[in-house]
Amino acid sequence: RIAKQHLPAYTGLERYQLLEKIGDGAFSVVYRAIDTETNEKVAVKVVDHSKLKRDQKASVLKEISLMQKLNHPSIVRMLSYRETSTHFFLVLELCDGGELFNQIVKLTYFSEDLARHCIRQVAEGLRYLHEECGIVHRDIKPENLLFDSIPFMERTSPAPPLPDFDDESKLDEGELVPGLGGGGIGKVKIADFGLSKVVWDKTTMTPCGTVGYTAPEIVKDQRYSKSVDMFALGCVLYTMLCGFPPFYDEDIADLTQKVAKCQYEFLSPWWDVISDGAKDLISHTLCMNPRKRYTIQQFLDHPWMQQQEKKQLSSE
Ligand code: ADP
Ligand code: MG
Repeated sequence: RIAKQHLPAYTGLERYQLLEKIGDGAFSVVYRAIDTETNEKVAVKVVDHSKLKRDQKASVLKEISLMQKLNHPSIVRMLSYRETSTHFFLVLELCDGGELFNQIVKLTYFSEDLARHCIRQVAEGLRYLHEECGIVHRDIKPENLLFDSIPFMERTSPAPPLPDFDDESKLDEGELVPGLGGGGIGKVKIADFGLSKVVWDKTTMTPCGTVGYTAPEIVKDQRYSKSVDMFALGCVLYTMLCGFPPFYDEDIADLTQKVAKCQYEFLSPWWDVISDGAKDLISHTLCMNPRKRYTIQQFLDHPWMQQQEKKQLSSE
């Protein structure tokens, strides 16, 4: 409805002209937009806060205050924001390549080099959040990981058909893969800080809040809550390598059980061709016990992550 319009003057953001809608969530609509003063393309996330409950409004305000402080190439930048009596407007760096999710669906699976190239960027962003900012993202998933530019495609061998839980439209479209040896694929960035939380005070190296009266499980929980992001990172890597997620069941109760027991496999034949190094890294990340689960630094230091891509992938 408001597409192809300048944002109204009362927002203070009238320099931005909304083009088309590029995404939406439960309470937000995201538009591609243009900064008419610089001709720079941006994304504008519009949140209708009249529909939000009080705690949801608080989480948007938290998202805004967190994003303002973040400064890392793997994290979507917030350029500006305004609040009116009805809406929040977040002006964001535009990631025009779309969601990692859509690329996985389109391509069925990523080569190991490409998966490493993508997950490394995400992991570096997560390392910055965990180690330098004391922030947990809490919503790492392929829909919230965005390519900054449209991946360049080239041909490769077809993928094996997906297991039966997948719909047939996706079968055997595996001859297109982004970027290997060609023009390169863009950068991958972490978006959507709506559920993020500061859990660790980097200056005191303690949990946020007064520790003196905090119960042990809270202190532990805050320490281990970073491991929630690590589990999600493992799920993303698994999915990129084979084209389907580690935990899947049509029945939500059965799916919950599988996750609760950390019940996943490297299904044959899809995983037969994938290296032991990748499987080892996933095993240490999709690990039931959060205390044994790899931290982001251990993830980045793993030999599979340390391998260099065979062909130059131009991320820079
Ligand atoms: P929600 O909190 O509603 O999930 P998100 O911030 O995840 O909102 O945005 C919803 C969708 O909009 C994303 O999944 C993505 O497809 C798109 N989107 C969000 N931010 C950007 C951006 N900076 N550039 C391009 N697309 C974006
Ligand atoms: Mg989202």
